[in-house]
Amino acid sequence: MLFLLIPIFLLLLLAVLICRTAIMRTRTKLPTVPSTVQTDTEVEAILAKAVACKTVSHLDPSQTDWDEFSHLIALLEKSFPLCNKHKITDETIGPYNLVYCFHGEEKGREPALLTAHLDVVGANEQEWTHPPFEGEIEEGFLYGRGSFDCKLQVISILSAFEHMRKTGNRPKHTWYVAFGCDEESNSSKEGAVRIAQYFQKQGVHFSFVLDEGGVVSQKYIKGFDQSIAVVGVAEKGYLDLELSVERTAGHSSTPAFPTALGTLSQAISRLENKQMPARLTPPVKQMLTNLGKEGPFAYSLLFLNLWLTAGLLKLVFSKQSTLNAAIRSTIVPTVISASDKSNVIAKKATAIVNCRLLPRDTEQSIVSWVTRTIASDSVLVTPLHCTPPSHISKTDGDAFRFLSQTIKKTFPESIVTPYLMMGATDARKYQDLSDSVYRFTPARMDRSEVDRMHAPDERINLENISLAQQFYTRLITNW
Ligand SMILES: [Zn+2]
Repeated sequence: MLFLLIPIFLLLLLAVLICRTAIMRTRTKLPTVPSTVQTDTEVEAILAKAVACKTVSHLDPSQTDWDEFSHLIALLEKSFPLCNKHKITDETIGPYNLVYCFHGEEKGREPALLTAHLDVVGANEQEWTHPPFEGEIEEGFLYGRGSFDCKLQVISILSAFEHMRKTGNRPKHTWYVAFGCDEESNSSKEGAVRIAQYFQKQGVHFSFVLDEGGVVSQKYIKGFDQSIAVVGVAEKGYLDLELSVERTAGHSSTPAFPTALGTLSQAISRLENKQMPARLTPPVKQMLTNLGKEGPFAYSLLFLNLWLTAGLLKLVFSKQSTLNAAIRSTIVPTVISASDKSNVIAKKATAIVNCRLLPRDTEQSIVSWVTRTIASDSVLVTPLHCTPPSHISKTDGDAFRFLSQTIKKTFPESIVTPYLMMGATDARKYQDLSDSVYRFTPARMDRSEVDRMHAPDERINLENISLAQQFYTRLITNW
């Protein structure tokens, strides 16, 4: 009897899954070929000059060449004279951040904030095929550090407002624009932290905030051919842990085991072999649901029935590094040090492991996991620097709907979806000023292009400069 019941049950289950999936799907026909875009040589030239300003920020602000920031700010003042009239100067903001306010014609809605950063990471010129700080244009691409991250946004946002003011128009509602000077230098507090303090002091609260973030890309998930526009609604936290082991030092000719380095290596190996448990957080669930509604049927079946398929998906996602990082807090060794001489056994060996925290994980929960996994009293685990995961922004309000529609108008070939950002942005510094903080960079980029960010030969397709202008123009005109 049982042998008959099982296949019947499985067939029924399959029928339920298929019906449920078919009902939930809202698949619409998307244009497959991205529309071609007119490029804008004037704005390209400004972006090239902006890239030539070597605004590399450092954790220790005294190492930053602030003259380069002054050059960039002077360039922006000269290139966008009408925006300049909207600039706010205030002691709290500081000399190397930029804040603008464009008053709207109507009241009744809280202002919105567009934000980006003026600084960039450094570049090793030897590894580049184009000079990193000259803004060279070749075969449809503008090369240089910051061309994508994130001077594209700075220039596009200002050019959208400049154009609006040139035609004598004002936005419907008030917009603020804020560019910080230290996004790339992690825990420095000279940039967005100061800007957020200024807004706090003024009692400004935003209807929504838009920072750099996800892009429009294809082949985000294997076999899923549609373009996906991902909007970061939360970002993972950041934690550095130091692992250290002390043993008696000695000469390598008469070694005593285990050595400090040996014990430390074992601890690292344990951490690599056992990952933290996978968990589908709300932004990831939302992403899967959105993709399930629009994607190929096989994906719909998987993504729209998470009550049944979550376990299987976690297993599959764990095999691919980007997806794996979306479903679990990750822990990876990045720095190690012990003896600096080949014939000396180190008294102390230390390593730094870098952890990226899913929403709801904390410094404490990671430290306990690491300590339990290492399971050795000889290894001391010390938290160094921690930025908790950001809040999760709301996606059921007017702001997210409006943002999604604007993305869809500019990138009609894409499925717009919330997602969880793996990296950190300035956005989290504004999270107390709005419950709708989003992270999206209006650019079509495939994986290999995104990988150039913070790496050699960073570049931006010239079409993206026009697309970004279109996007920001739509945004500021229609909100
Ligand atoms: Zn950036």
